[in-house]
Amino acid sequence: MNKTAQTGVVLTDIRKSFGNVDVIHGINLTIAEGSFVVFVGPSGCGKSTLLRMIAGLEDVTDGEIAINGRDVTDLDPSERGIAMVFQSYALYPHMSVRDNLAFGLKMARTKANEIETRVNSAASILKIDHLLDRRPGQLSGGQRQRVAIGRAIVRQPDVFLFDEPLSNLDAELRVSMRIEIARLHRELGNTMIYVTHDQTEAMTLADNIVVLRNGRVEQQGSPREVYEDPNNTFVAGFIGSPR
Ligand code: ADP
Ligand code: MG
Repeated sequence: MNKTAQTGVVLTDIRKSFGNVDVIHGINLTIAEGSFVVFVGPSGCGKSTLLRMIAGLEDVTDGEIAINGRDVTDLDPSERGIAMVFQSYALYPHMSVRDNLAFGLKMARTKANEIETRVNSAASILKIDHLLDRRPGQLSGGQRQRVAIGRAIVRQPDVFLFDEPLSNLDAELRVSMRIEIARLHRELGNTMIYVTHDQTEAMTLADNIVVLRNGRVEQQGSPREVYEDPNNTFVAGFIGSPR
């Protein structure tokens, strides 16, 4: 089947080298439209690099990326129908929450009334309506992370990309934000690709887990499959199967 005829995100033979160091060794993955896929693996295994290539923030050394039937391999990030949420929130400190949410849309010359509608809708989904006139410095860590997610929502992307969005938060807040992100996926129904090194986060959020090690896929499957039937001792050890 022609891969650009498929929906969702299709990675074909993706490779990445930095200089003469190969960090991604030929990854093939199909991520179904509307699914919540988690890339999990130890620090340095290539999770962020893979996500950044899907986002277009990093060139692929070789291979092809298709999103909802479109070859996006050579497109700019803004042309891919994706929005990325980072670990460092990267909010503009001198702007209100409202202006932080609106900024990307203003740059894209979206009409003012459309911006207002989308900002209000994102704020309502994330329950930050009451914070719109504050500045980032007046928010808690969890509230800042909501604003960062809001900036992705207002762009109405086909695919959300998350790179360890909760790793700066304390344990309690991580759990409540995890529940929020799961709710967001149910409400919006978009494809979400989520990177973490945290097994619990992966197991609780994912429809599908992709376990990475040293730039290769060790296993892909539902949390239950990966837990109950690990391909090898690495996956078993990493996911924490009793075997
Ligand atoms: P992870 O997100 O899983 O922790 P990364 O994707 O950040 O891993 O990194 C994968 C490997 O690629 C690591 O060995 C890292 O040092 C290397 N790497 C990442 N970005 C660069 C870069 N810009 N230049 C050189 N090496 C890099
Ligand atoms: Mg990373």
